[in-house]
Amino acid sequence: MATTPQHSPAHPVYVIGGGPGGLAVAASLRERGVRAVVLEKSDAVGTSWRTHYDRLRLHTTRRLSGLPGLRIPRSFGRWVARADVVRYLEKYAEKHELEVVTGVEVFRIDRAGDEWVLHATGGRRLTGSAVVVATGYNHTPRLPEWPGLDAYAGELSHAREYRNPKPYAGKDVLVVGVGNTGAEIAADLAEGGAGRVRLAVRTVPHIVRRTTLGWPAQRSGILVRRLPTAVVDRLGEVIARCFLPDLSAHGLPRPEKGLATRQREGAVPVQDVGLIEAVRAGKVEVVAAVVGFEGGEVLLADGTRIAPDAVIAATGYRRALEPLLGHLDGVLDASGRPVVHGARCPREAPGLFFQGFTNPISGMLRELAIDAEKIARRIARGAKGR
Ligand SMILES: Cc1cc2nc3c(=O)[nH]c(=O)nc-3n(C[C@H](O)[C@H](O)[C@H](O)COP(=O)(O)OP(=O)(O)OC[C@H]3O[C@@H](n4cnc5c(N)ncnc54)[C@H](O)[C@@H]3O)c2cc1C
Repeated sequence: MATTPQHSPAHPVYVIGGGPGGLAVAASLRERGVRAVVLEKSDAVGTSWRTHYDRLRLHTTRRLSGLPGLRIPRSFGRWVARADVVRYLEKYAEKHELEVVTGVEVFRIDRAGDEWVLHATGGRRLTGSAVVVATGYNHTPRLPEWPGLDAYAGELSHAREYRNPKPYAGKDVLVVGVGNTGAEIAADLAEGGAGRVRLAVRTVPHIVRRTTLGWPAQRSGILVRRLPTAVVDRLGEVIARCFLPDLSAHGLPRPEKGLATRQREGAVPVQDVGLIEAVRAGKVEVVAAVVGFEGGEVLLADGTRIAPDAVIAATGYRRALEPLLGHLDGVLDASGRPVVHGARCPREAPGLFFQGFTNPISGMLRELAIDAEKIARRIARGAKGR
C-alpha cells in the first residue's frame, strides 16, 4: 500500500486542522526543517477542546498525553482539565513557532501531478508538496435516522452542544448512547441537579476504572496492545470481575463480547468517571435503546414509551471526509475512513497522509504524537531524496 511520498521544497506541506493531531505533525516537520502550514477553519487552535463540556478532563495521564517536543506541565496535574488542554495547545503552537492560518477551511483536495491543490475559503487554491489531513475523528455530530425524528416535538440536542447540567436543573433528561461521552454526561446531570436521568443503552459497554490500585487503565491499554484478542478479552473479564461491581440488576450486565473484540469493532471501553456510582445509587436509570419518536414521545426497543423534558444524543460523530476526498480513487473505504493512516499513503495518492483517524485503547493523544513523528520522518525523507 505504501509508496514514497513526493515532496518538493518549492511548496510547503499543508496540514489541514489545528487540533492536537495537526499541530503535532507541523511541529515534527518543522523540527526536521520542512516547512509546514497549518490551515484551521475556526479562529484558534484546539477548537474541539474549547467546546467540549466543562467538567471534562483527560482520561489519559498527563505524562502519556503530551505531543512531541513539549511536555504537559506537571502543574496541570495527573488528569488534565479541558481548559488546561487548550492552554497547552496554545503554548505548543507558540513554542514551536508554527505557521497556523486560522479562518481557512479546506473544501476539496485534488492531485496535480506530483503535488496537491487545496481549494479553500475565499476561493484560495493552495499548492502543497504533501498534505496531511488532520480534520478530526469526531468531525460532524451524527444522529441515527430514527423514525419520527423530524416530527419530534420535544427538546433534542447532540452531545456536542452539552456544556454543563445547569440548563437541566429539575428536568427529566434522557441521554442516548453509552460511549465515554454519554456516560459522563449522564453522571454530570445526575450530580448536577437534573430531576431524573435515564440512559438509553443499545449495546452494554465495557466499563473500566480510570485507575485500579493507582495503575491507570491507559497503561494497561498500552501493555496489551499487541497481545492476541482472546488473551486481552480474558484479562479484561478477570479484571472486571475482581474490581467492578455487578450492575446486572441495574440494567448493565457484563458484556457478552470481550473488551478487545469490541475494541476491534470500534467500541472503546467506557472509563468510569462517576457512572458506576450513579447507576448503583439509582441516580442514572438504564433503559432500552431508542428506536424512534412519535409526537412528544420517545420509543424504546423494549416497547416502552417515555416523554422526557430533554433528549441528549451522545450518538457519536462522522469523519465527514467525503467532500474533501471522496472523488479520489482508493483513498476512503466504504465507511468513509481513510484506507491507511500514519506514515503510509494510499497507493493512488502519494504525498497524502492521515492523522488521527484511529481510536486506540492506548490513548489517542499518545498515538497522535507517535504518528506525527512517523509522518514527519517520512515526508522529510522524501524531501531529502530530491
Ligand atoms: C470528549 C472527548 C474526550 C477525549 N479525551 C481524550 C483523552 O483523555 N485522551 C486522549 O488521548 N484522547 C482523548 N480524546 C480523543 C482525541 O485525543 C481528541 O479528540 C483530539 O482532539 C483529536 O485531535 P485531532 O487533531 O485529531 O482532531 P480535533 O481536535 O478534532 O481537531 C481537528 C481540527 O481540524 C479543524 N478542521 C476540520 N475540518 C477542517 C477543514 N476542512 N479545513 C480546516 N480545518 C478543519 C477543526 O476545526 C479542528 O480544529 C477525546 C475526544 C473527545 C471527543
